Amino acid sequence: MSAPPGLFARELAGLALAELAERSRSASPAQVDALLRRVAPAGGADPGRPAAGTAHLGLADLAVLLSPAAGERLEELALAARATTLRRFGRAVRLFAPLYVSNACLSSCTYCGFAKGLPVVRRTLDLDEVEAEGRLLADRGFRHLLLVSGEHRAEVSADYLVGVVERLRPLFPSLSIETQTWSDDTYARLVRAGLEGVVHYQETYDRARYAQVHVAGWKRDYDRRLSSFERAASAGARRLGIGALLGLAADWRADVLALGAHAAFLTRRYWRTEVSVALPRMKPSASAFPPVVVVDDAEFVQAHAALRLFGPDLALSLSTREPPAMRDGLARIAVTTMSAGSSTEPGGYAAPGTAGEQFSISDERPPAEVAAMLVAAGYEPVWKDAFPLYGGNLAGQSY
Ligand code: SF4
Repeated sequence: MSAPPGLFARELAGLALAELAERSRSASPAQVDALLRRVAPAGGADPGRPAAGTAHLGLADLAVLLSPAAGERLEELALAARATTLRRFGRAVRLFAPLYVSNACLSSCTYCGFAKGLPVVRRTLDLDEVEAEGRLLADRGFRHLLLVSGEHRAEVSADYLVGVVERLRPLFPSLSIETQTWSDDTYARLVRAGLEGVVHYQETYDRARYAQVHVAGWKRDYDRRLSSFERAASAGARRLGIGALLGLAADWRADVLALGAHAAFLTRRYWRTEVSVALPRMKPSASAFPPVVVVDDAEFVQAHAALRLFGPDLALSLSTREPPAMRDGLARIAVTTMSAGSSTEPGGYAAPGTAGEQFSISDERPPAEVAAMLVAAGYEPVWKDAFPLYGGNLAGQSY
């Protein structure tokens, strides 16, 4: 049985997303010009202009920033986004690593290299193997881990995941999960065990497209997935990660608009919780899924700059799916959180090549090299927050 729509699903239904997307496609140069004057860094010709990051933008503004007309002004857009990022986040970029604990999956998502039935070598790490992978990553400097798995309720049960969090918590002050979605009770158990963050990408907010590509399994339930953040935040998760997989739906601007709306909703409702946004682009995997649209590099930068200006306080996250030049550039514009030295197969840090990977990565630099790049660019790689969000017993708070 499908889950009932959550709070954001109801808000999304009233947003007239198709009209906003059309507004984005047809925005005029004059509209872009007016908006750029509102968001451009102060100190230029207009002394009355607000400082970067202080203009309050709505979804209609985000639509204009994502438009082809705004794409013609990409350099100005990137400069405004950079000024906003520096103002709100300084020169700190948080580094984290994914730790794949299992690639067993009972769901069939047509774009994923772990989908049920694909002939990949399956592996679920036992707790000793998880700890061995964790110690390798701790030795490389990481203090933030993202625990990733497919959706297999027997192999990656709630008990198993609680055990993983308990085993790794002494090594890592910040642990997040990117797994199947869970009930309120399980999120609360995980938070009590030491979990800090929950990442569930909606992949696409287009219901019809979602149904086409999520053909079977737990993930097929659009509303259960979309409402998972409401359960996780209410259970005390301190970080929420949302995302859209670019290349999955034909209208990428509509998905970025919905993602912006989702981020704004979560920020407003769960104001003590950090909201992180990601825009992964489709990469080759065992699924051989062809993207229905290619978001080119300029559009990819534009989308990040637009989201930064729309949500000055949002953490923007970038994975090793992207090549070094793109990652190095976006760290200077909008991105505040990056993975580094990633493996996307279970056990892939200790013994690479023994299980199927979820997708191929494009930035194979070791973490120390990514950190050195940031330092050379005048940024501070942050392995561990000075004040971890987890620590106070905020579970059960009312919002
Ligand atoms: S996206 Fe997640 S649920 Fe879907 S097939 Fe891949 S691992 Fe399984």
